[in-house]
Amino acid sequence: MSGQSEFLTSGISDLVGIDAVNKTNRTVLHSDLNNFFASAECRLDPSLCGKPVAVTGDPETRHGIVLAKNYEAKKYGIQTAEPLFQALKKCPSLVCVRPHYEVYREFSEAAKKIYSDYTELVEPFGIDECWLDVSDSRRIFGDGKKIADEIRLRIKKELGITVSVGVSFNKVFAKLGSDLKKPDATTVISADDFKSAVWPLPVEELLFVGRAVGEKLKKCGINTIGKLALAPLSGVRDCLGKTGVMLWKYANGLDFSPVTPPSENDTVKSVSCGRTAPRDLVCDDDVRCALYPLCENVSSRLRAKNLMCRTVSLSVRYSDFTSLEKQKKLTVPCRTSCEIFSAAYELFKITERKKSVRALTVCASNLDSTGEVQLSLDPDIQKIVKREKLEAALDTLRAVYGKGAVFRALSMTDSALSNIKLSPGSRSKKL
Ligand SMILES: [Mg+2]
Repeated sequence: MSGQSEFLTSGISDLVGIDAVNKTNRTVLHSDLNNFFASAECRLDPSLCGKPVAVTGDPETRHGIVLAKNYEAKKYGIQTAEPLFQALKKCPSLVCVRPHYEVYREFSEAAKKIYSDYTELVEPFGIDECWLDVSDSRRIFGDGKKIADEIRLRIKKELGITVSVGVSFNKVFAKLGSDLKKPDATTVISADDFKSAVWPLPVEELLFVGRAVGEKLKKCGINTIGKLALAPLSGVRDCLGKTGVMLWKYANGLDFSPVTPPSENDTVKSVSCGRTAPRDLVCDDDVRCALYPLCENVSSRLRAKNLMCRTVSLSVRYSDFTSLEKQKKLTVPCRTSCEIFSAAYELFKITERKKSVRALTVCASNLDSTGEVQLSLDPDIQKIVKREKLEAALDTLRAVYGKGAVFRALSMTDSALSNIKLSPGSRSKKL
């Protein structure tokens, strides 16, 4: 610990406070299930073991991209998110399987159950990663490395898949550690050796440094985590604002964020729904037809959670794979599909109109949990209250008779675009 204490007293302690010294005595693990989807598929069908395997979306509905791959497939240079036809060119013997999300969820829960034998402080990060704060478990189970090694053995033995674990004194370095050695490995980054272990690494290895932020940092001559750590804070702040300050702290080992189990931080921040259309959207009617069901989905989920939104955003992905996002603040918080659609469509109208559209995503954010439309004499708001009641009734009908029970006449123009499954003789009613 001497190195860390000396480091904290060399002019940075005023930035982080006295408590920081104690917080560097934490032991945080980051556990990452290796090639998770592909490993789970190999467990499901052992005949896949040893073969190059990719979990892919459905090419029929233009979702034919690689969602995950195993090490054998990686050897052929196959990458996540690459189109299936391209992957097959690289490796004609590639075995492609559709995803089984239910099974992945079961594996994920089983792994969490193992983690919970060592600590109550388990924070999931996606379906295949978790942070564990094992500071108070060291007396019983031994140091971080010992706990990490034991977890690795148990996951392998009990679940038949492997995991990489990073062990450090904060979440950011623990996560970085789990990425350094794969598969089935433990990497320790201590307060005493983090400068030699972490600082030579490319700056993109640091959590939250995406491609855009990485580019900006490189323009300032910062290409390693060490260069970021040693750069003057004011310079990094000028370059990246608040994000820069946060990343500079991370690079210096000054991440004190707690490991927080979901029950303590599961407030919903946004509700979104997106879909790649089965064909390109080439006119306004196509867009309306594809957009409405997304807004209905968001609206009904907001109602189920008793939330209202104050902001609606729309992401548009064009057929040339460029994309853009726009957002609009609403004058009154709302959650009806009509209002969300109006806002989203208005946003679409101000986007690039010459290109055809491949995918749309609608997101409701700036959420409010008051749960009810405020009563008002304003006729516009009274209209919203009425629509709210109507849409709540539609939610009930769909819950009882299925999603295709009631739909908008607009959806009839192209049921594939609006993702409505019409069955002959069903109890469907036009609206
Ligand atoms: Mg993983």
